[in-house]
Amino acid sequence: MPLPDIQKRIEHAALEAGRDPHSVKLIAVTKGHSRADIEKSVLQYGHFALAENKGQELRDKKPLFNPQTEWHFIGPLQRNKIKYLEGVALIHTLENLEVALEVARLAEKWGRAPALLIQLHNGEAQKHGVDAAEVPALLREVRALGLEVRGLMTMAPYMDSLEDSARVETVFKAAAELAQRLELPELSMGMSGDFEAAIRHGSTMVRVGSALFEE
Ligand SMILES: *Cc1c(COP(=O)(O)O)cnc(C)c1O
Repeated sequence: MPLPDIQKRIEHAALEAGRDPHSVKLIAVTKGHSRADIEKSVLQYGHFALAENKGQELRDKKPLFNPQTEWHFIGPLQRNKIKYLEGVALIHTLENLEVALEVARLAEKWGRAPALLIQLHNGEAQKHGVDAAEVPALLREVRALGLEVRGLMTMAPYMDSLEDSARVETVFKAAAELAQRLELPELSMGMSGDFEAAIRHGSTMVRVGSALFEE
């Protein structure tokens, strides 16, 4: 679907929820796509933040684009791969203090620190994310390192039925409530299949990939 159509859907969902459409940012997930495809499906429509989920892919792609491009990292974080994330504006997937320590160490070397979101576990049998009860302590510890934590990120459970869509809503609602309770301004949630529901629940960043690139 062309990017302007996605943007219209974002605006519509925001207005329906009584929100300012400018309060929702579209992050284009470019994993697996070539520079030519990204130019055609994303950048011909303007400047957009681009997101990758693998450190090496991000490192290799970044030099191919305008240096002003805003890069986000949305993949699982391993301590030994943080080195590929130099120049990234926002890491969405912080899960533990060990990784934050490595980010702080490298940020000093880079002269620039990425901002962070803490990834919230979604209650499924999924490996990634921090349990809600552990978020406040991690937030405190990461901030004590001098790093900026702007909010939370979450992934909805895989949707297969209507019943699942109720579970998706529950996950989004819980993330929004926790962000509000902790006074965290940013909420990264919503992908191609569920960004409208995420916006209804207060998402400020939707991470859209496949919908932008399909014909
Ligand atoms: C791939 C990916 C997305 C985008 O998913 P689509 O369904 O292609 O829009 C969003 N968030 C994360 C963490 C991803 O890995």
